[in-house]
Amino acid sequence: MLKIGVLALQGAVREHAACLQGPEVEVIAVKKVEQLDELDGLVLPGGESTTMRRLIDKYNFLEPLKAFAETGKPVFGTCAGLILMAKDIAGQPEGHLSLMNMTVERNAFGRQRESFEADLIVTDVGEDVRAVFIRAPLIKEVGENVEVISKFNDEIVAAREGRFLACSFHPELTDDHRFHQYFVDMVAQAKLEGVKFV
Ligand code: GLN
Repeated sequence: MLKIGVLALQGAVREHAACLQGPEVEVIAVKKVEQLDELDGLVLPGGESTTMRRLIDKYNFLEPLKAFAETGKPVFGTCAGLILMAKDIAGQPEGHLSLMNMTVERNAFGRQRESFEADLIVTDVGEDVRAVFIRAPLIKEVGENVEVISKFNDEIVAAREGRFLACSFHPELTDDHRFHQYFVDMVAQAKLEGVKFV
């Protein structure tokens, strides 16, 4: 059995849980730092990254989350979760968890396109992957070792760096669970290989 946590300070927690849940996966809504210890993988959901960061600080999650990521256990960030994972955020002095070597721009699709849906090609996930964008960020630039796995209109919207996975949209708001299955496979693989092998 794999144990996958969803950081439950704010955002679309239940929706992620529903996508991840399965015969080999137990989902844990993570509200306390100690719960990180039992996990094989972690999802950082969408929401509002500034609010989420405030709550991360309030409940002393910042260092434990970084430590979790350092063990080599897979982390998957969607939308605001992607912002939390980026090393650089355009217009801000520093990142939050700073896990992935990439620069993101918040709310990058403009007001008139606050929210929309699209079908994307995602490397190793499939074609026509349904994606919901809500005040979505964009990945402006990726560094070495970061693989771009999906683009929308030439803009980068999903990337992977080793055991870190991030997308600027909300796969949890659709019935298409392939993106989550891809992450579950990453978690299973990492557990097999051992946590220190990144
Ligand atoms: N615009 C939000 C932010 O900057 C992200 C939106 C989302 O997660 N749907 O944090």
